[in-house]
Amino acid sequence: MLAADLEFAKKLIRDVPDHPKPGILFKDITPLIGDARAFKICIEQMAADFDLKSPQKFVGIEARGFIFAAALAQRLNAGFVPARKKGKLPYRSFKQSYDLEYGVDEIEMHEDAILKGERVVVVDDLLATGGTAEAAVKLCQKLGADVLGCQFLIELEFLKGRKRLQPLETKSIFKF
Ligand code: AMP
Repeated sequence: MLAADLEFAKKLIRDVPDHPKPGILFKDITPLIGDARAFKICIEQMAADFDLKSPQKFVGIEARGFIFAAALAQRLNAGFVPARKKGKLPYRSFKQSYDLEYGVDEIEMHEDAILKGERVVVVDDLLATGGTAEAAVKLCQKLGADVLGCQFLIELEFLKGRKRLQPLETKSIFKF
């Protein structure tokens, strides 16, 4: 992948100050995924990261993780698995809670979404503190998955989320 291509795509990430609350600089990916060339550049780069480990499933974290995990699954002939917020999945599910700044939240996956020993990659649009991805990893492991690593489009390095995901391999395309 050419550095100029990645630079082009990075410029399409829009900063929205004070969203969803004061003090948060929200990284808005909608201009990037709305551009055919930029979206393709990012998916090609992300696909190259775990291709050699032959992932069988990409687990996308609701909601923006779905966009990247589904595209990667198609690109690498793998399946897509949604990790959803509490109460959304229709069938029997495993749950994992995680801490938020104030309170706790929960994500869920269908109990039959991953077979024992299946090679999976956990995907989200952005790595901040790592709490959400850590919960998704735990959920995959409860189902018996072989978690190959975690993959993000964006990493907010100052929040040190990748530390929380050790010893798993963590990949991100754009670092801020
Ligand atoms: P965390 O659990 O702290 O790593 O937060 C990651 C989740 O929150 C991801 O699903 C992100 O989409 C979302 N998120 C956290 N901070 C931001 C931000 N500054 N801009 C956009 N999304 C964010």
